[in-house]
Amino acid sequence: MKQDIKSMTLAEMTQALNDMGQPAFRAKQIYTWLHKGVTDFAEMTNLSKELRAKLDETYYITAPKVARKQRSQKDGTVKYLWELGDGNCVETVLMQYHHGNTVCISSEVGCPMGCKFCASTLGGLVRRLQPSEILDQVLFTALDSGLPISNIVLMGIGEPLDNFDHVMRFLELVNSPEGMNIGMRHISLSTCGLVPRIDELAEKKLQLTLSVSLHSPDDASRSAIMPINRKYPVDVLLDACRRYFEKTGRRVSFEYTMIDGVSDSPEQAELLASKLHGLAAHVNMIPLNPVAESPLRPSTRQAVARFQKILEGHGIPATVRRSLGGDIDASCGQLRRKYVKESEKTEGTAWTHGD
Ligand code: SAH
Repeated sequence: MKQDIKSMTLAEMTQALNDMGQPAFRAKQIYTWLHKGVTDFAEMTNLSKELRAKLDETYYITAPKVARKQRSQKDGTVKYLWELGDGNCVETVLMQYHHGNTVCISSEVGCPMGCKFCASTLGGLVRRLQPSEILDQVLFTALDSGLPISNIVLMGIGEPLDNFDHVMRFLELVNSPEGMNIGMRHISLSTCGLVPRIDELAEKKLQLTLSVSLHSPDDASRSAIMPINRKYPVDVLLDACRRYFEKTGRRVSFEYTMIDGVSDSPEQAELLASKLHGLAAHVNMIPLNPVAESPLRPSTRQAVARFQKILEGHGIPATVRRSLGGDIDASCGQLRRKYVKESEKTEGTAWTHGD
């Protein structure tokens, strides 16, 4: 069984090369090639033929293929559907903001969390991604688009804290000076609220931004849309956010999807404001992106404006997230979902790539 070399840290690679009787600088050379997106040991021209052959016997190099690529006519957002080594697919979205290019990446194939408004979880969890497969989304999006990537958000398919160890390793890889060297302050990680994992993350004292998908301030309506709330209710989750803030000094930001008649009442805005008191939090309001399989609908503009005004009245900064890529199924899991469904219908037919 060959091993996944791109999931290895530089320290592990150095050790492995040392075991092969090779000096430390060789590991660095290989690591650099891999993090530039080289997909074949044969291309590592500064290594001897023998070493390349030996590496090829021991390791494999992951390289996702573009299964689909859609570009928004409105705002230039690009959505990639990557096909992984085993045929599974995940999505990555590339957004161009004035503060830099941001990629939204996936951490799992499917998702086990079961949130009622989210397309990613409709078929449950298929499998967790390897560190290399998470990294590849950043690497190959940069290579395919020709654009430098300055920010990463872990807000694609999957629950990053459900794939904790692989996501931590990915962070180490993408942050490494010999690799893509993307600073922790340019990385956001979003979670639906796995409390023990939030505490574990706090212990690591990383400088990344933790985003919590709150979506409702009361247990009855949050449990109705997010099953995880039955295990870790709102107040338990917010206590974990307080501990996170104390431990890391980093403000937690909250995502709040505006769902008509579910999460958008003035009473809920008041309750949210009172519960966030003392957290120095920022609320990111996201108008629900309707998913075909769900009866949930986005809030009206008036309801969104009213909600925002109440929060701001209590001194809580709240922004309404600009929705990008609405014309290209850019909301979590929608493109993969469509692709999986279409493949089921037309099994055996080859896909044409691109738009
Ligand atoms: N599992 C993680 C990260 C992935 S989802 C989490 O739950 O945070 C990224 C964000 O998009 C989450 O806040 C999620 O709740 C939200 N989201 C998912 N589907 C959505 C939809 N249809 N409309 C608006 N936001 C959605």
